[in-house]
Amino acid sequence: ELKSLVKISEYEWEIPQKGSMRVPGRIFASKKLIEEMDEKVREQVTNVACLPGIVRASIAMPDAHWGYGFPIGGVAAFDPDDEGIISVGGVGYDISCGVRSLRTGLKREEVEPVLEELIDELFHTIPAGVGSEGKIKLSVSQLDEVLVGGARWAVAKGYGFPEDLEYIEEKGCLPGADPKCVSIEAKKRQHRQVGTLGSGNHYLEIQYVAEIYHPEAAEAFGLELGDVVVSIHCGSRALGHQIATDYLKVLAKASKKYGIPIKERELVCAPIRSPEGEQYYRAMACGVNCALANRQVITHLVREVFAEVLPQARISLIYDVSHNTCKIEEHEVNGKMKKLYVHRKGATRAWGPGRRELPERYRHVGQPVIIGGSMGTASYILVGTKEGEEKAFGSACHGAGRTMSRHQALKRWRADKIIAELRKRGIIVRAKSKRGLVEEAPEAYKDVIEVVEAAHRAGLARKVVKLLPMGCIKG
Ligand code: 5GP
Ligand code: MN
Ligand code: MN
Repeated sequence: ELKSLVKISEYEWEIPQKGSMRVPGRIFASKKLIEEMDEKVREQVTNVACLPGIVRASIAMPDAHWGYGFPIGGVAAFDPDDEGIISVGGVGYDISCGVRSLRTGLKREEVEPVLEELIDELFHTIPAGVGSEGKIKLSVSQLDEVLVGGARWAVAKGYGFPEDLEYIEEKGCLPGADPKCVSIEAKKRQHRQVGTLGSGNHYLEIQYVAEIYHPEAAEAFGLELGDVVVSIHCGSRALGHQIATDYLKVLAKASKKYGIPIKERELVCAPIRSPEGEQYYRAMACGVNCALANRQVITHLVREVFAEVLPQARISLIYDVSHNTCKIEEHEVNGKMKKLYVHRKGATRAWGPGRRELPERYRHVGQPVIIGGSMGTASYILVGTKEGEEKAFGSACHGAGRTMSRHQALKRWRADKIIAELRKRGIIVRAKSKRGLVEEAPEAYKDVIEVVEAAHRAGLARKVVKLLPMGCIKG
């Protein structure tokens, strides 16, 4: 079963370079996780390794599973000076899907007595579900401001505070976004979706700090045992999805035009230095800013609800980090610093200490890495490491990762039963869609403890705190 893999260490495995592979494949996982991973992951890691300009290795994280073209949990960096490419499949449909975690300044004991009311208020206030629409209605030209400004747009409109921006990747706004590269259809689908959670896998969860592994980092992140945290998981909604759909077509043509051999439809790509590649980057940056604005507006709504239910709360950002992006970053390649296009799909950026882009308060420990588990299990905050920068361009897993398809999950469980079981354990769940809830049953995911342990042991990121769920809102 593991014959095609070479074991580098307990938590690192190599797919040796052969055939048209330009670099080896590399999977960070325990033996158990590798054995459970669907075979498609190895095939997809191999296919990505064949793409032009790929640097060092085609990488998979411990939570990797099958995706469109690239695996979910895939990381690949491309060198623009060496015919490097950019790919829709390397970013994913939900551009800049990510998680933002908030401190509340409250302890578990303070929240517990009003938990049900709090969850109900959040459920009523934060628009969720497929195609859900918010209170904010924007014209196309107003939406263009969102696509350029990201969370900065939101703060300028009164959704949150300037100090929030310090704790968002890219300080809340990815440069290079050009709304002209985004179709009118994509914009039309979005004009009422700013500040909405979306469906299915997206969630808003009330959690508490149940364990501390790394006191220095926990202190820097402002977290103590029993502290209540709010985590928001959502992305760029219909806009990101439409950008991906539009550019799959553009890049399919480009792959032919530039003679790039493609092994799977969703691996279509264009040279970074081509009009098509540049346009996709500019459109994708719009998607990133849309997601950052979205999470900022939702944070504002969370603050409003807490002001009503628990007025003593003080909501501040721990961090906001995306897990579906292509970013231009400097990394060391053969002893020289190079600007690379790092694709992370279902993988979280995880930078080690010292990077000047990190908030000053965290610079000595590294970047917070936020990892979801499921509505019934633990979630984690980790911190990036220097070792992870060397091994995986500063990337870590983004969740537990599915172990079962949505379809399989639907056949196996019922929503009412899941809700009742969780309630017995003190976890309150509200969902717009019963189907969506079943698809996200905790058992449909891998063991998050095992996945996080693998990321930690592989040196990709270090465990800081464990969070346990108190209540969860699903789209
Ligand atoms: P994705 O972005 O790939 O859809 O999901 C990221 C991760 O979030 C999943 O791998 C899963 O482990 C986690 N997740 C999904 N639903 C929930 C939830 O309701 N609560 C928490 N804490 N994590 C979840
Ligand atoms: Mn998403
Ligand atoms: Mn996500």
